[in-house]
Amino acid sequence: MKQKYSVIVFDLGNVLLPFDFNDVIQGFEEIEKGLGVKFAEFYRTNYEVHRKFERGEYSVDEFTEIMLGVLEQKVARKEFYRIYSGLFSVNEELVKLLPVLGKNYRLVVLSNTNALHRKYGWGSYEFLGNFEKLILSHEIGAVKPEEKIYRAVEAYTGVPPEEHLYTDDILEYAAAARSLGWDAVQFVGNEELIREFGKRGIPLDGDLRD
Ligand SMILES: [Mg+2]
Repeated sequence: MKQKYSVIVFDLGNVLLPFDFNDVIQGFEEIEKGLGVKFAEFYRTNYEVHRKFERGEYSVDEFTEIMLGVLEQKVARKEFYRIYSGLFSVNEELVKLLPVLGKNYRLVVLSNTNALHRKYGWGSYEFLGNFEKLILSHEIGAVKPEEKIYRAVEAYTGVPPEEHLYTDDILEYAAAARSLGWDAVQFVGNEELIREFGKRGIPLDGDLRD
C-alpha cells in the first residue's frame, strides 16, 4: 500500500530546537545592567526589524548595525553574534526519531530564522544531517505564514501538497500549511506528536506497516 505521506516537514524553533530569549537578555545584562532589558524592549516594539531579518531583507551587517546601536555600542560585534545566537538547545528525544522516520519518509526543515542564528546558533548541530533539505526564510525571502515559503517546500519536494505532513509549535503556521492542502499538527510536546504520528500510521520502529 502506498504511504499517504512522502515528506515530513519539521519546524526548528521550539520543536527540534527549544530556545529561551531570556538567555539573550541575560547575556547583554551581564555586559551592563539594563542593556538586556533595553534590547528586549526594542525587539518587542520593533518586531518588524526581526521579521525583515528573517526574510533576508536586512543583510547581517545592516541588522547588526541596528542592534549595536540599540546596545549603545557597548557590545563588540563578535560578542553580539555569540550572545544573540546563544539561545538554542536540542530536543534530543525528538532528534532520536529522525533516523527512524528517515527510513520511510523524506525529511525537510521549514524554519523562520536568520543568517546569524544559522551561523552562530544552530547551524552546526549534527542532527541536521537527517534532513535532505533546509528551507529557510532568509534564503527564500518569505516567512511563515506567507504562502511563498510553503510553496518553496513543494517546489523542492516535487510532490502534491497532501503528501506533506508538517509540525510547528505555532498554530497559525500549522494552519497556513493546512489551508494549502498539507496535513499539519501543532507541536505541543514530544508525546503528543508521537501520538499524532501514530494516528496517521507513521511507523516509529522503522518498519513500514500497511
Ligand atoms: Mg517554532
